[in-house]
Amino acid sequence: MKSPFELSKEEMQSYGYKIVDIIVNHYINENEKKPVTKASRKEMDTLFLQEAPENGTSSNEVLDFVMENVIPNSAMSSHPKSFSFVPGPSNFISTMADSLATGFNIFSGGWIISPAAAELEIVTTNWLLKMFNFPVVAGGGIFTSGGSMANLTALVTARRIKCGEDFSKAVIYLSDQAHSSNIKAIRVLGFKKEQVKIIPTDIEFKFSINKLKNEIAKDRLNGKQPFCIIATAGTTNTGTVDPLHTIADICEKENLWMHVDGAYGAAAILSKKGSRTLKGIERADSLTVDPHKWFFQPYEIGCLLVKDKSWLSNTFSEKPEYLRDTEGNESEINFFDYGIQLTRRFRALKLYMSIKTYGLNAFKKAVSYNINLTEKTEDLLRKSKNWEIVSPATLAIINFRYNPLNVHLTEKELDALNQEISSRVVASKEALLVTTVLQNQVVIRMCLINPKTTIQHIKDTLNQCNTFAKEVLLEWKK
Ligand SMILES: *Cc1c(COP(=O)(O)O)cnc(C)c1O
Repeated sequence: MKSPFELSKEEMQSYGYKIVDIIVNHYINENEKKPVTKASRKEMDTLFLQEAPENGTSSNEVLDFVMENVIPNSAMSSHPKSFSFVPGPSNFISTMADSLATGFNIFSGGWIISPAAAELEIVTTNWLLKMFNFPVVAGGGIFTSGGSMANLTALVTARRIKCGEDFSKAVIYLSDQAHSSNIKAIRVLGFKKEQVKIIPTDIEFKFSINKLKNEIAKDRLNGKQPFCIIATAGTTNTGTVDPLHTIADICEKENLWMHVDGAYGAAAILSKKGSRTLKGIERADSLTVDPHKWFFQPYEIGCLLVKDKSWLSNTFSEKPEYLRDTEGNESEINFFDYGIQLTRRFRALKLYMSIKTYGLNAFKKAVSYNINLTEKTEDLLRKSKNWEIVSPATLAIINFRYNPLNVHLTEKELDALNQEISSRVVASKEALLVTTVLQNQVVIRMCLINPKTTIQHIKDTLNQCNTFAKEVLLEWKK
């Protein structure tokens, strides 16, 4: 019997080529499209809700339906006017590399199954280790689905290595600007509320060091076991980098694990300016980087790097009987021993192929371009009589608000005005530009990590904002 999933060679070719053409056209025409999509659950149900069909439909018909209904109802995070959250600029080589990894369905768990996949994970994590001045021989890393899983993997490891079996007195410290995925990870790990200390940040959104030291000292006096500080290298809100050297000094003195969450910002190490800002990152015990953000990879690929790879194997290796035969030479790494997943997709391939194809220089250029573009945007805003900077250009993130010269608006009105500007831009679907809250002010935030974004895209969007702002102010007068 033929497998019920088999297609003829011709069918596969025409179907596959059609999809490649669609993707190529997307890459070429993306700029002309609108980055925002909005749809209600009801609208989506109307389009898609049905019982699983017993009988199939022609492949082309399904594909056409998807192209008409699914793709247009998904936001384009790689669009040059997608300014919000952390965009996903991606790149074509990695897109194709992902298709290869999926096409061959390569299992990336154990050495004996796919030695080349394991080797490429070693090679590419070594490239990253070197970039961050981590030891390449003793150090190690693992690819995860994203930054959230990398943070979780880090905190499991930190707790295992620092606390062993009994973590009833363990305390972990992070700032109020740390990413929510850290809190989620802490919850997954089953820590009680009193074991988690959220430390306020200073006026620049950095870890308040004095308050951190006070908390650690108090916890020691109370017989607790401080074991880990989570520093952020590039907060998602403002791009702020915590004082890494100072935190590393505290960790050394207090014998604490230093985890650095660089999911958004660590890639800035590729530029001169960024590497200055990130000084001290090399002192972390573990570091989260997220290649599907500023290393321009398609979803999903996150990465955890550690100073000593035995920390990972000591935390995660667990051998059921049916995995006995996978034990080999110690240098032949089984990545299922380094993290949570057993069956893993071949994430290293896209990073490997894109760095080999474009060269690291292309990545360096792109990251430097993004940082300069953010600074240019700051200049532009500072020269305008309508805008004020709330948090200056920091690792490709900038926060600002509409606050026109010689027009007197209360804080409440300013909040409402900026919220309204953002809502109208998003409603126009021309740009994805949403707000965040900094020191109780509603501000507009831009994250400019897409190398396709030009200063003209930004000017166009600011012009649109200006128009909407005037509209709103006129409406308020009536
Ligand atoms: C995006 C982000 C994360 C989470 O990463 P995902 O890839 O979305 O899981 C964690 N920390 C920071 C600082 C981030 O910006």
